[in-house]
Amino acid sequence: MCGILGIIGYEDVSRDLIYGLNCIQHRGQDSAGIVTFQDSFKTMKGLGLVNDIFNMSHVERLKANCGLGHVRYSTMGTTEVLNAQPISVNYPFGLAMVHNGNVTNYSELRKAILEDSQSLLETSNDIEIILYTLASELEKKNIKYLTPSQLFEAVEITQSRLEGSYAALAIIANKGIVGFNDPRGIRPLVLGEKTVKKGKIYALVSESTCLDYLGFKKIKDLKAGECVFIDINLKVHSKILNHKPPAFCIFEYIYFAREDSVIFNRLVAKERENMGKLLAKQIKKLNLDADIVIDVPSSSYFFASALAEGIGIPMKRALTKNNFVGRSFILPNPKDREHAVCQKLNPIKEFINGKKVAVVDDSIVRGTTSKKITSLLREAGAEKVYFISASPPIKFPCVYGVDMSIKTELIASNGEDKVAEAIGADKVIYLDLDSLKEFYNKTGFCYACFDGKYPTMVPKTLLKEIEKDREKAKLSAN
Ligand code: 5GP
Ligand code: MG
Repeated sequence: MCGILGIIGYEDVSRDLIYGLNCIQHRGQDSAGIVTFQDSFKTMKGLGLVNDIFNMSHVERLKANCGLGHVRYSTMGTTEVLNAQPISVNYPFGLAMVHNGNVTNYSELRKAILEDSQSLLETSNDIEIILYTLASELEKKNIKYLTPSQLFEAVEITQSRLEGSYAALAIIANKGIVGFNDPRGIRPLVLGEKTVKKGKIYALVSESTCLDYLGFKKIKDLKAGECVFIDINLKVHSKILNHKPPAFCIFEYIYFAREDSVIFNRLVAKERENMGKLLAKQIKKLNLDADIVIDVPSSSYFFASALAEGIGIPMKRALTKNNFVGRSFILPNPKDREHAVCQKLNPIKEFINGKKVAVVDDSIVRGTTSKKITSLLREAGAEKVYFISASPPIKFPCVYGVDMSIKTELIASNGEDKVAEAIGADKVIYLDLDSLKEFYNKTGFCYACFDGKYPTMVPKTLLKEIEKDREKAKLSAN
């Protein structure tokens, strides 16, 4: 998963790009990059966090009236600067791009590009495929006099070639900024506006929280298959191109998006509370004898508070988090992941000792975090540990950009019955998938990581290929 941001205005946008990337840092911490355009492209990217790469001295260096930014969380390709975004091409015209998602027919398209256009791709990142496909479609138009409808035609053909999930932004030199997503709208993208002295300026970004910080007002979420083009005169054109039944990633609401973001009129925090209430309904029937509910910071607060209220058991913050320890989830080897969880979380013994604890986390993926938390709670004197997952059991790999692509690594892949034993808990309770689907009226979401029903074509060979790619990336990180 990644975060993307594009801004086009009258004056310099580089300061807002740097600030804005900070606001979507939670979507990716492997690398970050910015490209701006005014007469020529200016690009800066690096490995690590936005603040490690950019400081205010770069505002001057990147000065321009339009630009794109990206924060990366690798789910395809290795974590190296070469694979960091944005990327750009200068010929036959200037085109720079960032994206979020996973193009699943990557290998096939890569081969076709090599054979048809004799172009050798430089990275192992699927964005290059999107960029080349769009560039070759645009090349067929008279780029000098490119009209919005010609651009829409080029994007429509690009969408029909690509499989999988993507929300992409591109600068077309001297023409404007274009944003589009896949025909099922698996990944989020929002359009916002801000009124400045000269008129309105625009931003396209993964999450609305970023618009709030930058003082933009949200106009809309892009619908499945929609394309928005903001031209150089700051006129907005939009059209739904390839449209298939929407399949928005439910995991965005569960884990990925920030709680203060609003996606399709749903506030993420509120959705987490709704899921907490669903859990409460389930747990009431079990007569769970817990004394306290605790959350795993930071992502589980809203699930846990709604659950506690629903079952009438007090909630306490009894796990403290060291915010300066990096992410444990992406570390390549299990020992390092376990160690990182220990460094990150410390139980408050006084609150836990002698208690039957219901601990709520947003999800159990490989089980590393839950196992470590269970043992930390036991060491702190918990009499019982009931582990509650706010997401249903994750049994199938995600091919659309969440880093859970190796089936054998998923602790619930062969059923959830043995998970409690595997993580050492007295009981594990998952949110019931049918209740979740019923709550959301069954439609509009991708639940593939829970039920294996992929909304796009996913041949078995693809799953193998993605597994191989991830294994390779992990080995190279070791
Ligand atoms: P596990 O330790 O079971 O492999 O993963 C579960 C933990 O990782 C949970 O605490 C959850 O908040 C977090 N998590 C779940 N999905 C992701 C993800 O895609 N990326 C990151 N960084 N963390 C995740
Ligand atoms: Mg977590």
